[in-house]
Amino acid sequence: MSHPLLERAPEIAHALLSFYARHKRPLPWRQTKDPYRIWVSEIMLQQTQVQTVLPYYERFLERFPTLHALAHAPLDDVLKAWEGLGYYARARHLHQAAQLLLREHQGQIPPDKETLLRLPGVGRYTAGAILSIAFGQDEPALDANARRVLSRLFAVRQDPRKPSTEKLLEDLCRGLIPRGRAGEFNQALMDLGSTICLPQRPKCLLCPLSAFCEARRRGVQDELPLAAPKRPKPHYEVAVGVIWKGDRVFIARRPDRGLLGGLWEFPGGKRQQDEPLEQTLVREIAEETGMRVGRPRPLTVVEHAYSHFSVTLHVFECEHVAHQPKLKRPWRWVKLDELRQFAFPAANQRILEVLNSQKRQRSRAIS
Ligand code: SF4
Repeated sequence: MSHPLLERAPEIAHALLSFYARHKRPLPWRQTKDPYRIWVSEIMLQQTQVQTVLPYYERFLERFPTLHALAHAPLDDVLKAWEGLGYYARARHLHQAAQLLLREHQGQIPPDKETLLRLPGVGRYTAGAILSIAFGQDEPALDANARRVLSRLFAVRQDPRKPSTEKLLEDLCRGLIPRGRAGEFNQALMDLGSTICLPQRPKCLLCPLSAFCEARRRGVQDELPLAAPKRPKPHYEVAVGVIWKGDRVFIARRPDRGLLGGLWEFPGGKRQQDEPLEQTLVREIAEETGMRVGRPRPLTVVEHAYSHFSVTLHVFECEHVAHQPKLKRPWRWVKLDELRQFAFPAANQRILEVLNSQKRQRSRAIS
């Protein structure tokens, strides 16, 4: 890879690493070289802010301190420890990958890119982060922050979604990494992107790379990286049922694969055009579980946005009227007090809060 700026690679690396030495945050995953701990942090940090990850990271490692502990744990326990962090496929993949490493690599995380890339949930970024930070290999690790900095530093005007752009940025990064210091260099690049080279209004006056930055020299830093065209997100209206049978409610576990896989939920489904919501509820529960329910009463409404779509959950309480549940996946009738033992998706948390608050009100009214 040749680019005029790469001739100044030692100066650029020096400026960036000096910045990092002065400003780096003392994050727990920066105090270790344990590949397992670094891997867990990198998976948690995908799509989640550092401040949110911190308490989860500590708790997760207390609960699963080693790869062996994680591999031997039931998936339900792993999902429970992940509850509230979102993007649950990350937890499932972490668990599957730990089991695979135990089976095929004696429970060791291999310092080898091809093997890492074959693990569920490990892409080029995560593999690069593990190899550079835990094993000291001179590999790039480009998250969105690092990609933004490099796109501006080298004034890259290519579609950011194209694999050829990813490859170009990786090659440019490789050309900058000082031998043996990729771990620090990659983290410095990411820190610069998250604190100085911001998506909007980058703070070029404070930037240690401003003397080298091609986008700044041309005055185009606000235009780069080129934005990927946005696709409109679909929205769904969904009826959800809290089905009562005596003092218990019905919950079912989602299939292991797919959105929110392995988490527990109240049953329900999408409204068909202009269908009354009570009818949606009864129809969806019959189709999904085989049960007949009656007396639907509105409980609450929950708005929730996922990465590719959004939903309005119209939640009803209703009564079990007839037929036993017929599902191929696990299901339970549980008391309200027992619900906290199960991992639910964020959109269902609001339902749990409303149910608990109703229960508190009822017990106050009785006493
Ligand atoms: Fe980003 Fe500005 Fe620094 Fe260039 S000079 S890397 S645009 S903050």
